[in-house]
Amino acid sequence: MFQNFNDPKKADNNLKLMSISAIVLVVLFVYTIIKSDNAMQGGSYYTGIIFLFILMGLAFYLQKYKSKIKGYIPKNKFQKELEDSTNNHNYESIVSNIEASTSNITFKDVAGIKSVKQELEEVVDFLNNPKKYKKYDVKLPKGVLLVGPPGVGKTLIARAVAGEANVPFFYQSGASFVHIYVGMGAKRVKELFEKAKAQAPSIIFIDEIDAVGKQRGLNSNDEREATLNELLTQMDGFDGHSGVIVIAATNKVDVLDEALLRAGRFDRRVFLNLPSKNDRIEILNLYLKNRKINFSVEKLSLDTSGFTSSALSTLINEALLNMIKRDDTIITQEDIQSAKKKIQFGTKQIDLLESSQKNILATYQATKAYIAQTKVMLFDEGLDTPSYTYPSKSQILKQISNNLAGSVGVEILLGEPYAVFESELVEANKLATKMVEQYNMATNIDEIISEIKKALYIEINKNKNEIIKLRDIMIKDEVIVF
Ligand code: ADP
Repeated sequence: MFQNFNDPKKADNNLKLMSISAIVLVVLFVYTIIKSDNAMQGGSYYTGIIFLFILMGLAFYLQKYKSKIKGYIPKNKFQKELEDSTNNHNYESIVSNIEASTSNITFKDVAGIKSVKQELEEVVDFLNNPKKYKKYDVKLPKGVLLVGPPGVGKTLIARAVAGEANVPFFYQSGASFVHIYVGMGAKRVKELFEKAKAQAPSIIFIDEIDAVGKQRGLNSNDEREATLNELLTQMDGFDGHSGVIVIAATNKVDVLDEALLRAGRFDRRVFLNLPSKNDRIEILNLYLKNRKINFSVEKLSLDTSGFTSSALSTLINEALLNMIKRDDTIITQEDIQSAKKKIQFGTKQIDLLESSQKNILATYQATKAYIAQTKVMLFDEGLDTPSYTYPSKSQILKQISNNLAGSVGVEILLGEPYAVFESELVEANKLATKMVEQYNMATNIDEIISEIKKALYIEINKNKNEIIKLRDIMIKDEVIVF
């Protein structure tokens, strides 16, 4: 009988039949009493009545709580898949697992990345004092997009925002929305927002949003598009005072659908790079707090250029394990060396900057800093693009020149071109294409690029020594500030 509850229609029919049988039994019972000679004994009379009431009570209970009961009955995989594929809209039977967690991480647990923290402090303040903002009818961005490579602390900082504001944290990875069955992802997005709104103020964090947020039309996929559309609808559907803030993370902002980045959605972007030298010192100090060491943190920060924040925490953890193995209480340089060896396998970025690679990157970035006359860090990919509403032709040309400077500098100073930061070349081409196709400022894309390159060759050759000096500073400090 219980198995039939997996099929709602059959369960309804069974309940109806049971109720009819109970009524027939009651009628029969009453008929028997009336027609019988008064010889019926008290005991069996009452047993019969109680039995009937139990039966009716059971039927009533089953009818009333059928959906709850259905939830307790485990379904096998086959039944689930059959239901999903034959009836895409029969979601009721799928038990949701979207739940909020409370975060006990605060900004104190996040070392370095000061500017990122500053950007997000406003969000914390908004969650803590919504009235302050409401009073002046100020709306905060609904969505904040954290952009950066894996392991630089995107998830950690989002958790810290929730911890600082002491609000529920809804974590979902973009991939969890992409199901085989059309409609399921959209349903999940809807449910996520419903739950977050019900528990507002709250934070929704969507990790690897590119899994759902890729540009529509590219490798078209109905399920992903339906999910993305639902996400857009949901983001439009709550206002800036609802107390729900959506934070999403990605390492590829350029593949995201433009609609996601439009005003009122993820209109605030925060960039996270590999940690700079000072960031690394702060991260190492955080993980080495209250530990005895006999090596220089400053020196270790220099030797770990190119490490992600996550790799740094793993490094210290491995060194600690080594120390314990040696039955000691002080972390030594040897513990660090042995930990480094262990984690270097499988971490590409770590080898990357040990040798001449750092020189290539520093040459690239130093030239860029010289040409753009702006602060550049060793791991910054791309400069902040000035957001002119109506850029002039010369402003766009300057932007293209800044994007191309690094690669021309590397070619001149190192004798041949190297493949560094492809995204900057792509950006330069995009801008040149816009100049020709949209703004009618020029007639030939290749001509724009080659003219700019020619000018860069002359300027960089003339100022070689200056740029080499900057490169040395970049290698040492990993940052150049004008
Ligand atoms: P991402 O989301 O960018 O891939 P995570 O936030 O998951 O990176 O970081 C992984 C781990 O690395 C964190 O759990 C934490 O231990 C460590 N970590 C990352 N960034 C920092 C930081 N700024 N300060 C301290 N630890 C960090």
